[in-house]
Amino acid sequence: MYDKSHHPPVVLAIGGHDPGGGAGIQADIEAIAANGCHAATALTCLTIQDSCNVSQLLPIDVSILKDQINATLGDCRVAAVKIGLVGSLPAAQAIIDILRHHSTIPVVFDPVLAAGGGSELADQDLIDCLRQTLIPLCRLLTPNQPEAVRLAGSNGVRDYDIMASRLLELGAESVLITGSHDPDGGSEIIHRLYQPSRPPTLSRWQRLAGEYHGSGCTLTSAIAARMATGEALPAAVEQGLAYSWSAVAQGFRTGRCQAIPERLGPIRRGHPHDGG
Ligand code: PLP
Repeated sequence: MYDKSHHPPVVLAIGGHDPGGGAGIQADIEAIAANGCHAATALTCLTIQDSCNVSQLLPIDVSILKDQINATLGDCRVAAVKIGLVGSLPAAQAIIDILRHHSTIPVVFDPVLAAGGGSELADQDLIDCLRQTLIPLCRLLTPNQPEAVRLAGSNGVRDYDIMASRLLELGAESVLITGSHDPDGGSEIIHRLYQPSRPPTLSRWQRLAGEYHGSGCTLTSAIAARMATGEALPAAVEQGLAYSWSAVAQGFRTGRCQAIPERLGPIRRGHPHDGG
């Protein structure tokens, strides 16, 4: 008989909604489940977007955001928090106020500052707040290269080691700078994990052709889930990278522009559409 006292670890995903299901909370739920955990969610904003770009960002009333987060934190033992699109300064302040009172829960933050199609999703006030108050709460920060440039505030310096040391100085416990958006990247993607007083760990992957929507959400949620199951940070990062690389390799297109990583491969395989 099913033992109700044993449940998968709970990961609280805080982020925005993408109606196309490629990125945001839906991506988080799928990646968290595929990596052995249960996703609880709190919506920061709704968006209007298709597979090409985001046209509107509609923040959720901040008191409703707080109530969503507190409902889960007050009820469940949350093993990790994953934060994606914050979307507004009041949302950032609300998230920070609450998480300060839960300092034992590891926080993994994917700083979504712009949509894949180019729309800005964060203004300078929000970026300043993230730098000063959310980054110091992070067990792991996962910017891509353009996000690292903006968050490090390094006046255009693009050297990975310099950007990472600035982000660690801001208070992040560790930083994974992902290489998928590196404009100088060739056929290889190099991800760099920085932890204080250690040489960076480089992880090399074959660059896959095409544009994908939700790959950052997929990666960061997978890492948060693996941390929630008790994996040490470097192993959680490496396993999260392997999971998200194969999700992208099996990605599919539902619309005209960016493809969606296949986060549920083993579940969907064998269904009639798969030719099985
Ligand atoms: N979350 C939402 C709701 C978004 O709209 C976006 C990008 O548009 C993202 C997250 C980040 O997507 P990606 O993982 O492709 O960086």
